[in-house]
Amino acid sequence: MAEQTNQPSSQPSPLKGVMTVDQHRKAIMWMFQNSPNLKCEVCATDKFSVVDDFISLPIVTQDGILAQVNYFIPCFILMCVKCGNTKFINAIQAGIIEKAPIPPPTTSSPATSTPAAEK
Ligand SMILES: [Zn+2]
Repeated sequence: MAEQTNQPSSQPSPLKGVMTVDQHRKAIMWMFQNSPNLKCEVCATDKFSVVDDFISLPIVTQDGILAQVNYFIPCFILMCVKCGNTKFINAIQAGIIEKAPIPPPTTSSPATSTPAAEK
């Protein structure tokens, strides 16, 4: 029963949903540089905050299924401080995080992913 608890707490991983201080600063700078007149279309306030978590949007194929479990769009979150209206900004496009290479698919049966009956 090995547990992986050796991750350093001083360097939060984007995959854990926690921004580093530098990433949070970059996201705030992105907001001021790219949308200095941002107004909430719901409540008309101009006060937004950068939530210090990332969110990932899964990629869906034309057939409407998830492309890959580990293939997603990482986003940071702008949230209206008055009404909570939430916007997702592509964190790679915005330069907040670097695009990670897509790992090769695991070798499994090409047909269906039915769990094997063998042990
Ligand atoms: Zn609002």
